[in-house]
Order: sequence, then C-alpha cells, then structure tokens
Amino acid sequence: MRRSRKKNSFGLTGGIGAGKTTVAERLRQLGAIVLDADDIARSALDPGTECYEKTIRHFGESILGQDGRINRSELAKIVFSSEEERQILNGMIHPYVLDVMFRSRDEAVAKDPGSVVVFDIPLLIECGAYRRMNKIIVVVSDDAIRIRRVMERSNLSEEQVLARMERQITQEKQMRHADFLIENNLGLKELYSQTDSVFEQLRELVR
Ligand code: ATP
Repeated sequence: MRRSRKKNSFGLTGGIGAGKTTVAERLRQLGAIVLDADDIARSALDPGTECYEKTIRHFGESILGQDGRINRSELAKIVFSSEEERQILNGMIHPYVLDVMFRSRDEAVAKDPGSVVVFDIPLLIECGAYRRMNKIIVVVSDDAIRIRRVMERSNLSEEQVLARMERQITQEKQMRHADFLIENNLGLKELYSQTDSVFEQLRELVR
C-alpha cells in the first residue's frame, strides 16, 4: 500500500522567484492535486495549534499581535536574520506540515488511485521529503530574472531578495535531484508548454 501511494507522489520545488507557484497553479488546472507546504505552514501557526504554543514559548510574546495571532512579519524578521532561529522554527513546523500533506495524499489516493498528487515544497531537498516522492520536478530560472520577478512581486529591494536567495540551497543542488527540469527564462507560454508536457508524463506514471 505504501509503495503504491509513493507512486502518486511528485515533489515540486524551486528557488525564490523561479516560478514554482506558477507551475503549481498550472498543474492544478490540468487536474493535479496540489498540496502547498507554505499554505499548510501558515495554518500551523494559527492560535491553538501545538506549533503556535511552541513558537511563542521559544520566540517570546513579542511576536504576538494584539489579536493574539502570531505576527508573521515579526517572526520573518527574526528567522531571516538568524540561521539558527530559522532552523529552530523549521524544526517545529516541518513535521506538522509533512504529516498533513501525507495524510491528504492518502485520502486523495484512496478516493482515486489515479491521482497525480504534487507536493509543492520550497524546502523539498533540505527537509529530506524528496526521498518519499516518486519523481521530483525542479523549476529553475536565471538569477537576474528571479531577482527582477521577486522585486516586482513583493516590493523588496535587490539586497533583500539576494539575502533570501543566499539562505536557500543553490539551484545547482536542487537540479541534481530533478527527474523533470523546467527552465523558466522565457514567457508564460513557454512555461505552460513545459508544464503540460511534464503533467502528461506524471499521468503516465500513475496509470
Ligand atoms: P517564491 O518561492 O518566491 O514563491 P516562485 O518560484 O513560487 O517564488 P512564482 O510566484 O511562480 O515564483 O513567480 C514569481 C513571479 O514571477 C510571479 O509574480 C509570477 O507571476 C511571475 N512569473 C513567473 N514566471 C513567469 C514567466 N515565465 N513570465 C512572466 N512572469 C512570470
């Protein structure tokens, strides 16, 4: 049973601004079930969860907003300026996120054994979850293009984008794990056509 569920599991990753979310959206339109690690991680910090309690215990109440919710930009400031703190936060959140994702996968496959389940995980390689995937899709793009995209999207300065890129593993390291490599240096049309071709191959793999 376990092995057959691994068959349906496809990891999707890529560095900041490479185009991973755009690929994930396209895969969803094509019929894949996309599980978004960032979305689940956000709910991990909702009041009342075990992660919420642990996070406040470690980082202190200064990260709380007046409404009792964790102030995410405060927390981001802390973890983006300290590798050690970032790892501590990840150690609290990752197990929760992976657990939710694998349970969702199991439900999807129980309903439809032909499901293509895509695990959209920015830290797929770093957290080791890539080992539990049938195949890995990596989205890459030239650094200059990634910087420009993120600056436009998020209103960050070039220095801020570079600092975030430097905290991630390199695209070269991600590429070593790629069964499918999507190079996103051109327009959306080219990106979608590569994505469509990957999806067809995933469908074949679960058939
Ligand atoms: P992050 O890890 O920061 O979330 P990401 O890899 O998920 O980044 P996206 O959110 O998909 O990247 O893309 C970053 C921005 O660039 C988005 O605003 C997206 O619409 C845009 N973008 C991505 N690929 C292309 C493309 N080929 N042509 C034009 N715009 C693109």
